[in-house]
Amino acid sequence: MDDLSARMDAISLLDTHEFFMSFCLLAAQRSKDPITQVGACVVDRQGNLIGSGYNGMPRGCHDDEFPWGKGSTNTLENKHLYVCHAELNAIANATGTMDGCTIYVTLFPCNECAKLIIQNGITEVVYLTDKHAAKPATKASKLMLDSARVKYWHFGSATLPASGTLPECTRTRHARIQGMAGPGAGWRACEVLGKRMGLPGMQTFQIFTRT
Ligand code: ZN
Repeated sequence: MDDLSARMDAISLLDTHEFFMSFCLLAAQRSKDPITQVGACVVDRQGNLIGSGYNGMPRGCHDDEFPWGKGSTNTLENKHLYVCHAELNAIANATGTMDGCTIYVTLFPCNECAKLIIQNGITEVVYLTDKHAAKPATKASKLMLDSARVKYWHFGSATLPASGTLPECTRTRHARIQGMAGPGAGWRACEVLGKRMGLPGMQTFQIFTRT
């Protein structure tokens, strides 16, 4: 088997769900939210990506004018009334009808995003984490998704090691990419795009996300 054939075989191992969830993780890295970076993408029934987004302020609303915090007693000084969630942006940016589409998202959709998902005809949600499962917004979201018969399931991948098990070289690489001291507890690394694709130029390509 020549090199190209071997690489193509390696590429085929990256399945559809891994690819789109990896894309969400990449999109999340664009968010300026200091606490929770979320990425989402909408995929049609033919497997085409038709919309993507991450959590951010509305167009024209600049980060230096609107808050990213959430601890103020004045709700107007917290982010929640202003920020557009990743799912909202992915749906707003979609280039075609979303009937029967799947949305991939790194965090389980809140109740407001669940409404958008349902009303746009999206029939499947694939999520990476559900850290707000105990919150009423997430419980309401699941009640609505269940009633509307929108299927949702957790993306679990053996390629996401638990935080704290990252090899030292990964920490160093992350420090260089992010300009930070390096990931500690609370970070996950996703290496599916680099190692599994086996492409020489992508061997060191890695994605990090908060757990
Ligand atoms: Zn939401």
